[in-house]
Amino acid sequence: MQSHICTACGTQYPPSERPAETCTICQDERQFVPVGGQGWTTLERLGIAHCNAYRQHEPNLIGIGTQPVFAIGQRALLIVTAEGNVLWDCISLLDAATITLLKALGGLKAIAISHPHFYTTMEEWARAFEVPVYVNSADRKWVMRPHARLRFWDGPTHELAPGITLIRCGGHFAGGSALHWAHGASGRGVLLSSDMATVNMDRKSFTFMRSYPNMIPLSASQVRAIAAAVEPFRFDRVYSHFFDRMIATGAKEILRSSVVRYVAAVQGAYDAN
Ligand SMILES: [Zn+2]
Ligand SMILES: [Zn+2]
Repeated sequence: MQSHICTACGTQYPPSERPAETCTICQDERQFVPVGGQGWTTLERLGIAHCNAYRQHEPNLIGIGTQPVFAIGQRALLIVTAEGNVLWDCISLLDAATITLLKALGGLKAIAISHPHFYTTMEEWARAFEVPVYVNSADRKWVMRPHARLRFWDGPTHELAPGITLIRCGGHFAGGSALHWAHGASGRGVLLSSDMATVNMDRKSFTFMRSYPNMIPLSASQVRAIAAAVEPFRFDRVYSHFFDRMIATGAKEILRSSVVRYVAAVQGAYDAN
């Protein structure tokens, strides 16, 4: 029996003789089945033609993403701290090099994942590093491979470690979360927003969507709720979910103005243009 991984979203399913007919995550309106049809791989097969690449975004923050790009193409983020390391978000490919490198950096104390699109092979990571995986309880039904190390958290925030706090934003998913890292950006504060607040291609603004591939917008009230959730936290820099999506400075003010623009847009500000 093998644990099959959906090639479109990277989600791993429990061991079975044969892969399922469909992937539950990709059947949802927030994802999609590619034009070529549902495809499956395994961790072993994925590792034959792919490997992980690493980018140190700033001291104590390392991005980990698969090359060539696999499935959605997000990169995880490793936060290195004196109290233990935290992995934010997850990717499907966990290979020997990644285990060796992360263990050499002190291993992990916890994994936290923003939303179901990035649950991927979380069970494999939790087992390899013997750590809990934190996901918001509002997204419980989207866990395709339940495991004993899963920890569902509730409420508006959850402190994982000193200066590392999960923030429930909602929007893209009901339990969709961001992570605040108080010591990041030389102490000015960092928000890891995943795609709860996506850094746009111009890297000067954010957008907020229920579905990015299918372009389903959120309501004004949902987007205001995302802004309100992160407002109490001090941050100057934001890293979104891809290697190149980050705003190095002034990100809190840019997030505020992006929310104002978004709300104006859905309320008709561009109707005359
Ligand atoms: Zn899928
Ligand atoms: Zn997503």
